[in-house]
Amino acid sequence: MKSIYDLTLDNMEKEFLELGEKKFRTSQVFEWLYRKHVTSFDDMTNLSQGLRELLKQTYTLSPLEISQKQRSQDGTVKYLFKVEDGYIETVLMTHPYGKSLCVTSQLGCNMGCQFCASGLLKKKRNLTTAEIVNQVMTVGNDLGETITHVVVMGIGEPFDNYDHLMDFIRIINHPKGLAIGARHITVSTCGLTKRIADYANEGIQINLAISLHAPNDEIRDQLMPINKVHPMDELRAAIQSYIEKTNRRVTIEYILLRGINDELIHARQLAHYLRGLNVYVNLIPYNNVDEHGYQQSLRTSVDAFKDELIRLKINVTERKEHGRDIDGACGQLRMKKEG
Ligand code: SF4
Repeated sequence: MKSIYDLTLDNMEKEFLELGEKKFRTSQVFEWLYRKHVTSFDDMTNLSQGLRELLKQTYTLSPLEISQKQRSQDGTVKYLFKVEDGYIETVLMTHPYGKSLCVTSQLGCNMGCQFCASGLLKKKRNLTTAEIVNQVMTVGNDLGETITHVVVMGIGEPFDNYDHLMDFIRIINHPKGLAIGARHITVSTCGLTKRIADYANEGIQINLAISLHAPNDEIRDQLMPINKVHPMDELRAAIQSYIEKTNRRVTIEYILLRGINDELIHARQLAHYLRGLNVYVNLIPYNNVDEHGYQQSLRTSVDAFKDELIRLKINVTERKEHGRDIDGACGQLRMKKEG
């Protein structure tokens, strides 16, 4: 049976009409689900008994099963959820501006980025829309917190699960859904260029982040196999076209790896690559993953890299580390269960 969290408001309207129900019932159901956060059809008390029974026979409505939960001293909470055929991870971070949830889009990942714990376990399948929505619902309900921001940066390449990703965004962004503002939602891709073009045409003001992590093709080829399919020139053209179409500034994610991509020459190459694009660079401290040989950059290298970008007039920020005392890098918790 399918989960009711699979349905956007439009799809729910279509299905309700097929079930012989009135369209306006969908707004009521959406309100129970996303405003009142009920977890049982029986609690939807302004629906007739008949409709509640029909919903019970047609859809499921249950939270994800929490297999493990770790809380960091800095307030980060990491969840490991059990799904039918594996585990998924979701991380809640506390910022001065609100609560941000990092969600997972696939069970495993096929992109093979060398520095990533998630990529060590191959993709089994795409998550359903409901499984992605349910990460937000389950964490929000478990902690009694309102999630104000969502980043799709957990396990998986979101653009490799495009249709479910977009339905997920439609549900959490909809004013009758969770009403999380488009500008508070960020999707991060390793560079599936055709999907960047599709995303630009969606007409929603969602943020785009690019996992770049290298200043040139030679290094990116080694770190991220996707670069052999969509090299950096092609990726740059896709970013440029996205910016022209949406007028949105794009985030460039750059994990600093000691001795690999963190030298001054790399900062200069990166600045050259990004020149003329409306972007800012987010420097990310590497969370050491035991299985890979990479190491976190030295503090002096990070500062020098950052200063060089600033000198070259590239907007740059440095991401604060979250959950360092728990299994901070995405995929680490899951790997301990499945690996
Ligand atoms: S960094 Fe992202 S795209 Fe790359 S292997 Fe890990 S989960 Fe997949």
